[in-house]
Amino acid sequence: MSCLFCKIINREIPASIVYEDERVLAFNDINPQASTHVLVIPKQHVATLNDLEAGHDAIVGELVRRAAAIAKERGIDGAGYRTVFNTNHDAGQTVFHMHLHLIGGRSLAWPPG
Ligand code: AMP
Ligand code: ZN
Repeated sequence: MSCLFCKIINREIPASIVYEDERVLAFNDINPQASTHVLVIPKQHVATLNDLEAGHDAIVGELVRRAAAIAKERGIDGAGYRTVFNTNHDAGQTVFHMHLHLIGGRSLAWPPG
């Protein structure tokens, strides 16, 4: 499997893992855009949001709830944080294993560029 994030799941390449269970992995982004920048991914390979089917609804819920739990652990839940799925070229998606960015710890501009 050539997918970078599948390799992280399979421990073929290292990552700074912050959470793991049977279905979800979370790790620090290698190029953080804020003091908290965590990627939350399903262990099941799904390339983009365009590939989601009804059977994926539970895992998408788990990704979002895990991001909120990590934000709470880090004490940024009250101040706020951003959660983003980038999809395909125009959104700047570079890794084609869907991932939820959790970004926080500073005031974030809106709208994004
Ligand atoms: P996106 O542009 O939404 O596809 O996000 C991909 C993210 O993966 C970027 O924020 C990268 O910094 C991050 N990234 C790429 N390679 C790694 C890696 N080996 N470990 C952790 N994060 C990575
Ligand atoms: Zn993958």
